[in-house]
Amino acid sequence: MAKILIVLYPDPVTGYPPVYARDSIPVIASYPGGATVPSPKAIDFVPGQLLGSVSGGLGLKDWLESEGHSVVITSDKEGPDSVFERELPDADIVISQPFWPAYLTAERIDKAKNLQLVITAGIGSDHTDLNAANARGITVAEVTYSNSISVAEHTVMQVLVLVRDFVTQHTIAVDGGWNIADAVERSYDLEGMRVGVFAAGRIGRAVIERLAPFGVRLSYTDRFRLPQEYEERYGLTFHESIQDLVKEIDVLTVHAPLTEETRGLLNDELLATMPRGAYIVNPARGAIADRDAIVRALESGHLAGYAGDVWDPQPAPADHPWRTMPHNAMTTHTSGTSLSGQARYAAGTREVLEDWFSGAPIRPEYLIVEGGSYRGTGAHSYAQQPTQAAV
Ligand code: NAD
Repeated sequence: MAKILIVLYPDPVTGYPPVYARDSIPVIASYPGGATVPSPKAIDFVPGQLLGSVSGGLGLKDWLESEGHSVVITSDKEGPDSVFERELPDADIVISQPFWPAYLTAERIDKAKNLQLVITAGIGSDHTDLNAANARGITVAEVTYSNSISVAEHTVMQVLVLVRDFVTQHTIAVDGGWNIADAVERSYDLEGMRVGVFAAGRIGRAVIERLAPFGVRLSYTDRFRLPQEYEERYGLTFHESIQDLVKEIDVLTVHAPLTEETRGLLNDELLATMPRGAYIVNPARGAIADRDAIVRALESGHLAGYAGDVWDPQPAPADHPWRTMPHNAMTTHTSGTSLSGQARYAAGTREVLEDWFSGAPIRPEYLIVEGGSYRGTGAHSYAQQPTQAAV
C-alpha cells in the first residue's frame, strides 16, 4: 500500500465549500484533434465543485483510503518544518498543482527515498527537477490538455484587457468617475494588430484559433513547424526563432514550457528588439521572463503592458514588483484552475493513479519522464533533443 502526499492550495478564506455561481458545467466530450478526455473508472466528485484546494482534495481521498493507501493532504509546503518536507521522506507518490507547486528539488528528491511517481495535476512539470527524477528513474506525469483551453481563454482575455486598457476603465467606473478621456487615453482596438505566438503547442494553437477571428495578423515560432495547411488556414507566418518573431509584432503571447532553453528568455536584450508599445501576455511560466527587465520596460514606456498569471516563485511574495508595476493586468496563477479545468485534471489524476496501481501503462501524452528518460509529451516538449512526433 502506498503513501500519497498531496499538496494543494488553501481553502477559500470564507470556508469550504464556497457558494457556487452555477449548478453545473458543460460536458466536454473530446479535445481538438480527437485527443480523448480523462477516462478513470469512476470519480468521487461533482464536476464544477472546488477540487484544487485542501478540502476538495482532487476528489481522491475517500477512494485512495478505501483501497488501503494512506493519504496526507496539505497546503503547508515551504521550509524545513513544513508538512510537505516532514511527510516527504517515506512518500511513494507526490501530487501537486502548478498553481501551488510542491517544489521537488534535487535535494528533496534525494531525501524522498520511496518516491516513485510524481503527478502534476494540471500541465507543466518544471517544479520537479526532471534531471533528478530521471537519475532516480522516477515517473513524472501530467494531465495533458486538461486545462489548455482554460489557459487559451485566459490568454485571449488578457490580450484584450491590455490592448483595450480594461483595468483603468473598470477602476474609474468602480471609483464613481466618468472621465472618458482618462479612460481611453491608452485604449486601442486589437483588430489589425500583429500577434506573435511563442510556442504553438496545445495552448499556443488554441490561442491562434481564438484570436484569428479578431482580424489580427498572426505569426509564431516553435521548435517544430506546423503543417502548411494549418499555417494557410490561419494566415500564419513562421519564424525560426523568438528573436526573429518579436521584431515586428504588437502583442507577444508565451506558451513554451520552462526549460533550460526558455528560462530568462524575455530579458533586456530581447525586449529592446520589440517595437515600442508592444504588449506581452505570459501564462506559461514566470521564470521565462526576467522579472526586473519586464518592470524596466514598462517603466520606460517601451512595453505598453504585461499580463499573465505565472510568477516565480509561487506563491509570489507580497512585495513582488509585478503586483504593482505600471500597466500590468496580472492575476494570480488561476488560468488553468477554473472549476471547469479542475474537473478534468482531477479525473486525469485519478486515471493516472488507477493505471499505476493496476500496472497498466500511463497514456504516452501524460508522460514527461519515465524509466530514466523523457517520454511522450516530455520527449516532444521538454527534452533538449526533442522528437518530432507530438503525442
Ligand atoms: P505542449 O506540450 O502542448 O506545447 C509546448 C510547445 O512548446 C511544443 O509545441 C514545443 O515544441 C514548444 N517548445 C518547447 N520548447 C521550446 C523552445 N525552446 N522554443 C520554441 N518552442 C518550444 O504544452 P501546452 O499544453 O501548450 O502548455 C505549454 C506550457 O504552458 C506548459 O508547459 C506550462 O508551463 C504552461 N501552462 C500554464 C498553465 C496555467 O495555468 N497558467 C496551464 C497549463 C500549462
